Amino acid sequence: MAKSLKDHLSPYVVTKGRQFRLADCDTDARGWKMSKDEMEDALQTGVARLGELQEKLYAQDQWGVLLIFQAMDAAGKDGAIKHVMSGVNPQGCEVYSFKAPSAEDLDHDFMWRTSKCLPERGRIGIFNRSYYEETLVVRVHPEFLQKQKLPPSLVKKRIWKQRFEDINAFERYLSRNGFVIRKFFLNVSKKEQKKRFLERIDQSQKNWKFSAADAKERGCWDQYMEAYEDMIRKTATGYAPWIVVPADNKRFARLVVAATVIDALEDLNLRFPRVSPEQKKALEAIRVALERERA
Ligand code: ATP
Ligand code: MG
Repeated sequence: MAKSLKDHLSPYVVTKGRQFRLADCDTDARGWKMSKDEMEDALQTGVARLGELQEKLYAQDQWGVLLIFQAMDAAGKDGAIKHVMSGVNPQGCEVYSFKAPSAEDLDHDFMWRTSKCLPERGRIGIFNRSYYEETLVVRVHPEFLQKQKLPPSLVKKRIWKQRFEDINAFERYLSRNGFVIRKFFLNVSKKEQKKRFLERIDQSQKNWKFSAADAKERGCWDQYMEAYEDMIRKTATGYAPWIVVPADNKRFARLVVAATVIDALEDLNLRFPRVSPEQKKALEAIRVALERERA
């Protein structure tokens, strides 16, 4: 699956942001002629492959992986994380969700709370929202910036440009330290969001997923899209690409996420650590001792 999908991933991967336009991006999987069953099968295969790769990542304990998920409400972040990681050993994977910052968070620099949650080597760390909110919700609602206790002389128009620079520098630093970064923007259409909101209202078991705040943020759709576009333009890099995932079709979105992570891990040429001849000899000696035991 990885091989065949890899060829099709390229339209969604953004490594150079300068020319990026959200209007050019698909929200549904137009052009993809896969049936539901074919997508399910491909995802199953992908999930199993991911499990194998993660085992090696963990055993080798050199590289680490950071996956960042950003999206409008109801775009399917939670479902994508749940399905794609379902074949991965929970010991090798950590998911952190970043909601509105606490008083303690606001007493620090904007990357503080996420920095504390970075993955160890050998692990896959997942950020469900991230420091990118600092260039999205905070940009759409300037009153949030006021609450950040920044010295007023530092809050100028260029603050967003500075945040992008700082984020790029931070991600480059992480990548130079052996942490592979992939950033997913689940690109859902306004129409599909409406449909999913209505489902959350109509189906009582989905009511808990919906809040009036979500509807309010929908009212700022265009400002959000502008903020997302600018964010991708300024922070899509070779070392930390954005993957703009068509998210109106949940199955397809999950496939793109799975294929991206598989592709990133396959590029690392992961191997189980090799055992030296001395270690092999020592293992053999232990085997002999074990076999001599009576019980
Ligand atoms: P779900 O998709 O299940 O609703 P969620 O990620 O939307 O999950 P919420 O409980 O709705 O979770 O809380 C997330 C909210 O916190 C979002 O509206 C997000 O914009 C906001 N948030 C995240 N980071 C920041 C930040 N740095 N400053 C202000 N608001 C933030
Ligand atoms: Mg929400």
